[in-house]
Order: sequence, then C-alpha cells, then structure tokens
Amino acid sequence: MLDLIPEGYRFVLFLTFDLDVDSAERLRGEEPISLSRGRFTERIGLKKVLEALDIFGLKTTFFVPGWVAEKYPYLVSEIKRRGHEIAAHGYMHERLDRLSYYEELSVFKKMVAALERVVGERPRGFRAPYWRFSFNTIDNIVNNNFLYDSSLMDDERPYVIEIENKKVVELPVDWRLDDWVYLESNRCITPEDLLKMWLEELKYASEVSGYVALTFHPQCIGRGARIRVLERIIENARRLGAWVPRGQELANKVLESKKK
Ligand SMILES: [Zn+2]
Repeated sequence: MLDLIPEGYRFVLFLTFDLDVDSAERLRGEEPISLSRGRFTERIGLKKVLEALDIFGLKTTFFVPGWVAEKYPYLVSEIKRRGHEIAAHGYMHERLDRLSYYEELSVFKKMVAALERVVGERPRGFRAPYWRFSFNTIDNIVNNNFLYDSSLMDDERPYVIEIENKKVVELPVDWRLDDWVYLESNRCITPEDLLKMWLEELKYASEVSGYVALTFHPQCIGRGARIRVLERIIENARRLGAWVPRGQELANKVLESKKK
C-alpha cells in the first residue's frame, strides 16, 4: 500500500506521545487532585516511558504544549537529549475550535516562540490539542511553516495537503488508537484488552504494508503495570517488521515518495 516503507520493513508505526502534564487542567482551573493526575507525568510517568523507549533503542515524537516547555524545561531537555523529536501541541492545550480568530493566532505565536526558546529549534510538527481544529487552524499550520500535522482522521495513510503552493504532510490519527480514551476518560477496558486490540492493528498493517499512528500519554500509559502495554506493543511491532520513524523523518519521506 505505501511506497515509502524502507527496504527490510513491512509497515510504518508512528509512535507518539502527548506531553500534556497539567496544562489542560490548569487552563480549566481544576482542583488539586486533577492537577496531580497531570503531574504524574512530571514525577514518574515520563521517566518510565523514556526508559522503555531506551530499552528498544527507539527515537520517537513528543507533542508538547508551549506552556509545558516553559514550566518544565528539564522534561523537554531530557526528551531531546535522548534523541526524540519535540513537536508542538498548543500553548496551554487550548481547544482551538473555541477560540476567536485572533486568539488562535496568538496561541500559535506563543506556542512556537516558547518551544523555539526552550528546545533551541523551531518545531516542525503540530498536533491540535483534543484533535480539534477551528476553520482557521490549517492556515495557521501552513503560515507557521510546519512540515507536518498529525490531527486529522480522514485516512489511514499519510498524505500531502496543498494550500496556495505550500505543502503540509498529514500524518493521520484515530481516536481508537489513543490510550487516553480507554484508560483515562472512559476507563472502559483493561490494559490487556487494549493490548490485544492494538496488536490486531499492527498485524493488519504488516499484512497490507500499511501505517498505524499510536498516541500515548505518559500520565496514562506510564502508570503502574500499564507500561508493560507499551513494551509489548514495541516488541510485537519489531517482530512484525515495523519502521518506527520520528515525525519529521516520516513527513520528509512522504514528500520524497510523492516526487517519484
Ligand atoms: Zn494533548
């Protein structure tokens, strides 16, 4: 199906982490226990995720709100030091569809400036908080020169969006492939059931030379034994022949393959 998979691999796994920490809860003015759930990332969740990725020698992509980078710069430095990509995820995890035109412009400006200052380079990837766009969001992504977006749900393969001669690669996502949905907001299935369901997705992708984007949150997958789900996913992805690129590598490969 995909002509961008390098020799020796059978499918693409875009393995991603959203480093929200307590940004969304603070913006909503929530009480201390909710804030503490977010801060689980800062105290231990991220550490466990980074250790799991190191065991397998994987370099992945972390989507980080600008405010999180400013408030917890040591987390961002550690992610970068281990070779992962830092991409953008709002300033304070805003719902862009609820902002005015000018409010959204300001969020993009603050987000890019904060990440550039803390990380030392401009982010090339963007993911909308809550996977919600306003009707202005795609223009803001293009105007801020992002290489790729990872928020839309209209395909199960990466593709290129062209707006006024500018190109943005879309690395599509799916609510069903987000740990938060099952383990935090609905708490509707066990981690074992989640693992079983997602392993089916990996298997299918390996059979059709496809693409799977998985989204994890360290405050969710890093809690207790759930970290084993991440480890099992990676083990099985390896066994099934996954290519696990960072967002920038994948987006560049998509652009290259379109030129052929
Ligand atoms: Zn998020």
